[in-house]
Amino acid sequence: MQMTTAMGSYRLNRFPLRQNESLQAWDAADEYLLNTIALNTTADEGPNASAAKGRPVLVVNDQFGALAIAFREQDVSSWGDSLVAHQGAMANFKRNGFDTVPRCIPATEPLSGVFGLVLIKVPKTLALLEHQLAGLAGHIDADSVVMAAGMVKSIHTSTLALFEKYLGPTKTSLAKKKSRLILPQLDTVLAGASPASPYPGHYIWQPQGLESDIEMCNHANVFAREQLDIGARAMLSVIDQLPASRHIIDLGCGNGVLGIAAKISQPQARLSFVDESYMALASARTNWPLALDKAHLESTESIAESTSEPAPAEFIANDCLRDLELGETDLVICNPPFHQGQAMGDHIAWRMFKQSHDCLQPGGQLWVVGNKHLQYNAKLKRLFGNCQEKYSNKKFVVYAAIKQAEPAD
Ligand code: SAM
Repeated sequence: MQMTTAMGSYRLNRFPLRQNESLQAWDAADEYLLNTIALNTTADEGPNASAAKGRPVLVVNDQFGALAIAFREQDVSSWGDSLVAHQGAMANFKRNGFDTVPRCIPATEPLSGVFGLVLIKVPKTLALLEHQLAGLAGHIDADSVVMAAGMVKSIHTSTLALFEKYLGPTKTSLAKKKSRLILPQLDTVLAGASPASPYPGHYIWQPQGLESDIEMCNHANVFAREQLDIGARAMLSVIDQLPASRHIIDLGCGNGVLGIAAKISQPQARLSFVDESYMALASARTNWPLALDKAHLESTESIAESTSEPAPAEFIANDCLRDLELGETDLVICNPPFHQGQAMGDHIAWRMFKQSHDCLQPGGQLWVVGNKHLQYNAKLKRLFGNCQEKYSNKKFVVYAAIKQAEPAD
């Protein structure tokens, strides 16, 4: 698909490529922002981006490189929480024949240097926006220009309040094609002394089988950041029924709650945590040793002598299980996502199921939790040839599917 704005025309695809993709890799907010910068039309409404010409550019939460590609001839960095968005940006630079790529900075890492132009796509999660606005302190100066854009439905009074809190007095543009610009007037004193990010946050969780609580760390963009997800809760209610396994993958691990619970119930299993969100992995990585220390402590207290050392875990930023070599896997547990960025759909769940099927050894199992109306059982049956319901309540259901042995030739 071709994105044409006053800053050029580029072939942009979503990532990973799908046959018959119907969704665009950019939205009207990207177009609005790029046209405004090229035509310098904010002159009477707010900051003038041409003042930042030639200085380093930072794009924040850019999906698939739609913003970064327009600045490919400058020093451009892309800061966000999606590995898939970063991979998509690199693929789109290549697709358009450019040898340069944006500098991709995970949202878990701090910025370095000072940026002349900062372009922010308003993310779904307000907490991520707050974390990023707080993280700009020290990386913009009196001559920097910050502009943001989003679809009207994702810009609220609370969104604008964050720009005012961290950057200065903020106006919005007229709406165009259901998108709007956010135009803060930088107050460098305010921006220089702005409060630190309030994230990561925590909630208390008491896993089945442990007497003590665990304080779960959750970075700003983690799914179910404030409390245990009700879908995850459904899976946790059957965690002690998981088949005994040597290697378990927690696919789309979020803060790691499912994998940690599986490990507590099966102490000798090797665990791999996989997510495309850098913040999810960082949270799981923090939570894992805290939880295991507690579990270990309780087991040594009750059993008196310690069993062998628990196997270490792997934390892998990846798009589902694509191209991963994880060795023999007995079990995948998964609470799949139902959107990619702002786009809803079960296409990622479907890929997770297919790739789980590919990576499991014969007899290995995929356990999935989902909202009943998503009818994952039909998909699992199609792929695995079988599917059993393990648990259900009014809203959620847990299914297990077993990989069959390949028929002998
Ligand atoms: N397992 C956690 C729980 O139960 O609370 C999180 C489940 S949440 C519904 C789905 C997770 O899948 C999110 O953490 C999201 O970042 C992750 N995800 C989304 N797209 C992904 C992809 N393409 N590859 C890997 N993980 C992905």
